[in-house]
Amino acid sequence: MINIRQEVSLLSRNTFGIPATASVFVETDNIAELTDYLRSFPDPVVFVLGGGSNVLFVSDRLDVVIHPVMKGIELIDETNDDVLVRAGAGEIWDDFANWCVEQDYAGVENLSYIPGTVGACPIQNIGAYGAEAKETVEAVEAIEKETGHAVSFNNQQCHFDYRDSLFKKNKGKYIITAVRFRLSKRFEPNVKYSDLETELSRNTSVTLKDVRQAIIDIRRRKLPDPSELGNVGSFFKNPTIHIEKSNEISKIFPKAPLYPVSEEYCKISAAWLIQQCGWKGIREGNVGTHERQPLVIVNYGGVSGNDILNFARKIIEAVYRRFGVGLEPEVNIV
Ligand code: NAP
Repeated sequence: MINIRQEVSLLSRNTFGIPATASVFVETDNIAELTDYLRSFPDPVVFVLGGGSNVLFVSDRLDVVIHPVMKGIELIDETNDDVLVRAGAGEIWDDFANWCVEQDYAGVENLSYIPGTVGACPIQNIGAYGAEAKETVEAVEAIEKETGHAVSFNNQQCHFDYRDSLFKKNKGKYIITAVRFRLSKRFEPNVKYSDLETELSRNTSVTLKDVRQAIIDIRRRKLPDPSELGNVGSFFKNPTIHIEKSNEISKIFPKAPLYPVSEEYCKISAAWLIQQCGWKGIREGNVGTHERQPLVIVNYGGVSGNDILNFARKIIEAVYRRFGVGLEPEVNIV
């Protein structure tokens, strides 16, 4: 079914809790009807909204917002070692992660409790605790907005990178309708992140359910609940810096959290950089960095998207001035 409404408030549809209005709001679980709508629509400039958990509205009005709600999780192929599962773009990501764990299918358990929808997961190649969506995504089904044609991309064609993909680079070009995942029947715990290792240190043998529960417990402890305090999780990406810059930093800070990504480059914790610049738990008016996780910018109530953006710019400037490292937002600024 396709449901087209005018003048729809997006306040409760973004976890930052920013007021914005969609002139036209199109909610649909039907690919054919969505295709027809796009083909008949004269101006293809539309914004696709999933769970609203990675978006910052800086414009108070959006012309056309499309909200895909295609549901369903189906097993489409199975071997002795793995399964191929197709999930509708409108499925809640964590319901899907939970379903996989319940079925004993491994691959997305480290991505438990990430807010958002299945359709959003390939866009920024969601990642947490040493796992990324790209390791399990077999294919992405989408509609090309300009033509209304159904298209499909295999894993390589998605050009996945750190919190990046073809879909993120070509903002507004595709509407993802479903994602196919290759999941393993042979579980091997991935507990290389220290928080996770510590959380599971008392378990003698670690199950899929243990990993999921440990991650839920850590995330609940460390991150603010968006239903209580507006936020979108990590606001910035962890920067990748040249080895020369990382040597420079570790000379002054021998314990700086640096993680090699290649012979030439290192990832550095954005949260650590922000904290070193004194921006952890800082509040200006009703915007602030969270007291337990400075990578999370919070809305204490009633702020605009531009208030948040201006606050974020001050953090970028402070980090650049002190370390010469550029922070980039992970959030989608619209
Ligand atoms: P943390 O453990 O305090 O570590 C800080 C950063 O260092 C992390 O962001 C992580 O990068 C990196 N890191 C830590 N251990 C690493 C290792 N063994 N190898 C490579 N990189 C390592 O991180 P945190 O803030 O509590 O977050 C834990 C995980 O949840 C991270 O993976 C983080 O990305 C994810 N998370 C995501 C969101 C979101 O909204 N997207 C929000 C909160 C947390 P990576 O980020 O590249 O993993």
